[in-house]
Amino acid sequence: MAAEVKGPSDIAKPTGLANFLGPPKLLGRDDKLATLVIKVDEGSPHLKIIDQGVCLKCIEKPCTVTCPVENYKVEDNGHTTIYWSNCIECGTCRIICPFHNISWRYPSGGFGMTYRYG
Ligand code: SF4
Ligand code: SF4
Repeated sequence: MAAEVKGPSDIAKPTGLANFLGPPKLLGRDDKLATLVIKVDEGSPHLKIIDQGVCLKCIEKPCTVTCPVENYKVEDNGHTTIYWSNCIECGTCRIICPFHNISWRYPSGGFGMTYRYG
C-alpha cells in the first residue's frame, strides 16, 4: 500500500542534478520564437492568397486569429494580407482556411525557419 502524503513537507525533495538545475522553466511564446531563425527568400513568397474576392466573403476570417505569429491582417479595404516573411511554417492557416484559399508551400531549399540552437 502506498504511503499517505499529508502535506508539502512529506513530498520528497529533488537531489543531485535535479536539485542543482532547479524546476524546469516553461517558455512563453516570445521566448520560443526567440529560438528560431528565419532566412527570408525575398523574391519568392511561399504563401499567397489565391482570391481576395473569397476573403471578402469569408465572415469569420479564422486565419487572422489562429496564426501563432499573427501573419494575417485585414486591411482597410477588406483585403487580407499575409506577412509571409515571418512564417514559422506551422501549417495552421493551410488547414484552417474554410475555402482552401491559401496557396501554401514550404520555402525553397536553404530558406525558411531553422532553430537557433542545435
Ligand atoms: S480564412 Fe481563408 S478565405 Fe478567410 S480571410 Fe483567411 S485566407 Fe481568406
Ligand atoms: S504556416 Fe503557420 S506561421 Fe505560417 S502563416 Fe500559416 S499559420 Fe502563420
